[in-house]
Amino acid sequence: MINNLFADIILPLAVRGRFTYRIPPDLAEDVRPGVMVTVQFGGRNQYSGIVFGVHDKTPDIKNVKSIISVNHGTPVINTSQLKLWTWISEYYLCSEGEVLKAAIPSELNLNNYKPRLETFIKLSEKYSEGELNEILDKLKKAPRQQDVLSSYIRLTGYAEGSEILSVNKSVLLSESNSSAANVESIVRKGILKSVSLPVSRMTEAGSYKEPVKSLSDAQQAAYLMIKSQFREKDVVLLHGVTSSGKTEIYIHLIEEQLKRGKQVLYMLPEIALTTQIILRLKRHFGPVTGVYHSRFSNNEKVEIWKKVSEEDPIKSYRLILGVRSSLFLPFSNLGLIIVDEEHDGSYKQHDPAPRYHARDSAIMLAAIHNAKTILGSASPSIESYNNAINGKYGLTELKERFGFIKLPSIVLANTREAYRKKLMVSHFTPELLNAMDEALGNDEQIILFQNRRGFSPYIECSECGWIPVCIQCAVNLTYHKGIGKLVCHYCGYTTTMPSKCDNCHSTGMVTRGFGTEKIEDEIKIVFPAARVARMDQDTTRNKNSFSKLIRAFEERRIDILIGTQMISKGLDFENLTVVGILNADNLLNYPDFRAHERSFQLMEQVSGRAGRRQKQGKVVIQTSDPAHKIIRMVLRHDYEGMFRMQTDERTTFNYPPFCRMVKISIKHKDRAQLNYFSDILGRDLKEIFGKRVLGPESPVISQVQLWYIKNIIIKIEREKPQVKAKQLIMETIGRLENSKGASALKIAVDVDPY
Ligand code: ADP
Ligand code: ZN
Ligand code: ZN
Repeated sequence: MINNLFADIILPLAVRGRFTYRIPPDLAEDVRPGVMVTVQFGGRNQYSGIVFGVHDKTPDIKNVKSIISVNHGTPVINTSQLKLWTWISEYYLCSEGEVLKAAIPSELNLNNYKPRLETFIKLSEKYSEGELNEILDKLKKAPRQQDVLSSYIRLTGYAEGSEILSVNKSVLLSESNSSAANVESIVRKGILKSVSLPVSRMTEAGSYKEPVKSLSDAQQAAYLMIKSQFREKDVVLLHGVTSSGKTEIYIHLIEEQLKRGKQVLYMLPEIALTTQIILRLKRHFGPVTGVYHSRFSNNEKVEIWKKVSEEDPIKSYRLILGVRSSLFLPFSNLGLIIVDEEHDGSYKQHDPAPRYHARDSAIMLAAIHNAKTILGSASPSIESYNNAINGKYGLTELKERFGFIKLPSIVLANTREAYRKKLMVSHFTPELLNAMDEALGNDEQIILFQNRRGFSPYIECSECGWIPVCIQCAVNLTYHKGIGKLVCHYCGYTTTMPSKCDNCHSTGMVTRGFGTEKIEDEIKIVFPAARVARMDQDTTRNKNSFSKLIRAFEERRIDILIGTQMISKGLDFENLTVVGILNADNLLNYPDFRAHERSFQLMEQVSGRAGRRQKQGKVVIQTSDPAHKIIRMVLRHDYEGMFRMQTDERTTFNYPPFCRMVKISIKHKDRAQLNYFSDILGRDLKEIFGKRVLGPESPVISQVQLWYIKNIIIKIEREKPQVKAKQLIMETIGRLENSKGASALKIAVDVDPY
């Protein structure tokens, strides 16, 4: 028998590597991979960490400390999860501890989990012997209390001698239409009694079983194609136009997996989307369906965590709908992962580490489970489509909308011309206003998309041109009229709207540009009779605000919904016929090599919301440059054209997917120090990688929260071994970090930056 004397432990730290501790003999039985333990690390700090492995190799360090205690007798992390953590840390160049922090809800407090208790009411045992009528009789002088008791009897179906059931107090109160005081009096009389019972935090609304819809011929062909491609490939890209019924195809694939006893993970880029799709899924799959996102409290997350790892198929979640972090749930036998809207940038985590891409990590997670992955999109990422046409992934295409409804017609509205001819009403072109007028006349609904929140992106002195900027970041402050304040969208810094110019003291401060808040204000003036609402980060701070807005729009209590990219994706509204894109220039002129790809996807996505059921929809795109090549491609819904153009450009200028990119951000609070150290790093990297190194350069936003920033980008050829290159990068960074005076430097590494 091997004696497991030591354990390698992952601690929630940014330091790379695992830490070896001695296993005290009395804990020897409990310390196994995946178990959570408490150890001391650096001075007196205690940490909870996860055991990665156990062995008897004496480590090469002095004074090996011992594990202090075991937090859980059973493993909280399974081996598949550990494999994913290791892959993410190696691929994305971060520590396993950073993955641990992202993976486990709120710093390992699985232990603090408390079941939620609610008050239930039941009949006292001593009264269960007597005649029910006698009991009711006793209460005849208190008719309100009599009502409570009758309601109890009705709700529990109690009959003499039957089992005594309890009923949730709040249900009893609403059903009997009485006050808590009435219930309490009967409890005091000893007729009823109150008990605390654990309840689920997850509401189980709409959990009934409706058979899945039968597929159209085109859908059926796509479905069969996916299944046959899965015989040879692990990943299939489903490229289906908006409203072609991709979701219905997923539902068929899910049903098949559940029948085989497998789990399914269905990923979406945006919380707003989960509220609509969860209802569609629960309708078919009922309570085995769970949803997971960051808005849940720690206790709620732990409850989902437990239900995913639960072995009993009746009690467990078999289908999880979630945003990117749902990758880290303790799945035990995944059969399929669906990554819907796979092109979406929200799948990439920017800060903090791990800076992982959830789509690419999902493919890895599926491989760990021997499962399949389906990537779905109406406008796939250049990366995925490239992989598909090169045969790395299967490719299934679905070119018609469900019910043969045509893709929306696109109208280009030239804002430059309209301004010149003085035809603009506020920020709206005649083309857009006419389309809106017509839709409102037909009782149809409208979505207006503007990629900026707030009232106006900046304010300016009309005399001298002075613009208020953030005191901590190199950005203009955005004016938020609702709260009457200027806000920094990078750090949250907030200040009052100045009445005078700081520079020349004139009182002529004016707002410039427009965000969703301003559009809302002005639309209300143009269409005073319409019911207008806004959906952006500012109006959806509460947990339930998404579902409330979406439901109100579904139930036609809103005519015009204004929003940011939150409203552009996957939502399915029956009566929505007109979509307006208020400023396409914003999207196209963004300084990034993906800007054109992204603008195409965004415009295609938001257009796809229009005309999904009865009739063809209409999209009005306002732009000062209607001849722009991307706009022309959106006009023809020409994805292939966009793909060819992008791949040509990226081949010529060597961008992903034709190279791998690693971005290094160097930050320092002192500008001169930053320049000094970033130059050294740039020079050292160029010694190894030569012309593959770009920078150091200041990004567009060169300072955030008082930290000055410089970026270095390294482009590695696809054919070159990336592991070796990454290792050299990390060694070079490590040398800089350990050099004299470098301790006030922050360095972040981003692999495949988005
Ligand atoms: P996508 O995911 O491709 O945008 P959806 O799956 O949301 O498309 O389908 C668009 C609309 O058409 C939805 O309202 C959906 O319920 C309906 N639909 C799609 N396929 C079918 C089908 N086979 N039977 C009935 N309705 C369908
Ligand atoms: Zn700021
Ligand atoms: Zn001024």
